[in-house]
Amino acid sequence: MDRIVIIGAGLAGSLLAINLAKRGNAVDVYESRGDMRTGNAARGRSINMALSDRGIAALREVGMDEYMLNAAIPMHGRMIHTPAGDTKLLPYSGRKGEYINSISRAGLNEALMTEAEKYAGVALHFNEQVSGFDPAGGELEFTSGRTLKSDLVFAADGAGSAVRQALDANVAAFVYRSEFLEHGYKELVIPPGENGSFLIEKNALHIWPRHKFMMIALPNLDGSFTCTLFLAHDAAADSDEPSFSKLTDEAGLIAFFEREFADALPLMPTLAEDFFVNPTGMLGTVDCSPWHVDGRVLLLGDAAHAMVPFYGQGMNCAFEDVRTLNALLQGQPPHADGTIDWRSIFEAFERERMPNAAAIQSMAIENFYEMRDKVADPIFQQKRALETRLEQTYDDYFSKYSMVTFREDLPYSEAKRRGNLQDELLMRLCADAADLSEIDAESAIAAVRALY
Ligand SMILES: Cc1cc2nc3c(=O)[nH]c(=O)nc-3n(C[C@H](O)[C@H](O)[C@H](O)COP(=O)(O)OP(=O)(O)OC[C@H]3O[C@@H](n4cnc5c(N)ncnc54)[C@H](O)[C@@H]3O)c2cc1C
Repeated sequence: MDRIVIIGAGLAGSLLAINLAKRGNAVDVYESRGDMRTGNAARGRSINMALSDRGIAALREVGMDEYMLNAAIPMHGRMIHTPAGDTKLLPYSGRKGEYINSISRAGLNEALMTEAEKYAGVALHFNEQVSGFDPAGGELEFTSGRTLKSDLVFAADGAGSAVRQALDANVAAFVYRSEFLEHGYKELVIPPGENGSFLIEKNALHIWPRHKFMMIALPNLDGSFTCTLFLAHDAAADSDEPSFSKLTDEAGLIAFFEREFADALPLMPTLAEDFFVNPTGMLGTVDCSPWHVDGRVLLLGDAAHAMVPFYGQGMNCAFEDVRTLNALLQGQPPHADGTIDWRSIFEAFERERMPNAAAIQSMAIENFYEMRDKVADPIFQQKRALETRLEQTYDDYFSKYSMVTFREDLPYSEAKRRGNLQDELLMRLCADAADLSEIDAESAIAAVRALY
């Protein structure tokens, strides 16, 4: 077989390169950016992220789970910050050992690239930006003017995928839709305290929910926190609604933070610089079909199914794509002449991954509303407390969040189906009860078990 081409040495592309090389394939990876191991990572683009079980399972398959978890900070729950500055920890799960991990995007990506390069068959080519692709002839064009022909291309070139754009332009049956939230995001920072100490709780994902907008913060190993402000791009000039477009000067920005994030403001000495220098990112969902053409090109990761970041699953889902491909290759060994029936593998990949990607994409949007609105709602908090109790008491109870985040054995679509049914039931129970002591756990679990 000729060399396989992967476009994008991001998270999915680098992990895929390792997996294909482990199976004895020769792989060329083309990446538009320079080698991040020799320079600084891009400013203001999700510096850290939440790694959870689906992603960890994929890293385990290449022997990198322990190594990466050693470089991560466990986050056991959501620490809610009220406007008055009070805090309350809502655990992610009632079970020990079920937590998510804050990990550096650049650190993870660099480790994956370094691991990929340990295989003689892998070559990473940097500063090679794909600008066009002809799916019929398998010809790739680069902005440098270079062209390259390949019979097998994996497009892991992220949410703005150039390969996907080429399929959209050249394949009649290709359908593409993207939907952007009215909210954007901006990365800010809480620096470390003295001697690298953490100025707010280290082992939590912090949330300042404010209904129409919110801020979150994830810890970094050096004692700092990366904060992300999610806010509408625009709001009517005559309304009280804040927006990025209304925050045009330092005085207005500080007044906004004094009003909404008063406990965080004193911890953010570089707020104004970060705010006015860092880019405002867009948040969108990418939906397209098909993901493969004639078994010659496959879209995966964000290129196939970018999602909003509110479930912390985009990378985990992209890693799960790679894990699924692996399982399919495992289940369908090469023909006697060494060739692989990529078309049937890609068809099976699409069948398995499309409904699951759609499920997590929609749950990610729902979670936006949960994080900015519902986590501050007393009935929702009571439901979370009930779920924690059920998880502590019954081995077979998993909240929707737990099913998505800690059950890599359960497809996203099934987590969504079960989760929606039980959420509805438990919210009803909580709305009818004055407090948790009024809810009988035995009857609650019996009702949940009867749902599926
Ligand atoms: C604010 C924010 C927070 C997030 N938090 C989380 C989180 O906590 N947990 C989680 O699981 N996910 C999170 N995500 C989602 C996650 O970042 C993505 O799902 C993940 O990066 C997808 O991996 P990928 O390899 O498909 O794409 P990418 O990581 O984007 O990699 C694509 C690669 O392709 C390269 N490339 C792009 N165009 C070209 C081209 N034309 N030619 C050659 N190379 C090209 C890029 O330079 C890049 O290296 C977050 C996203 C955002 C925006």
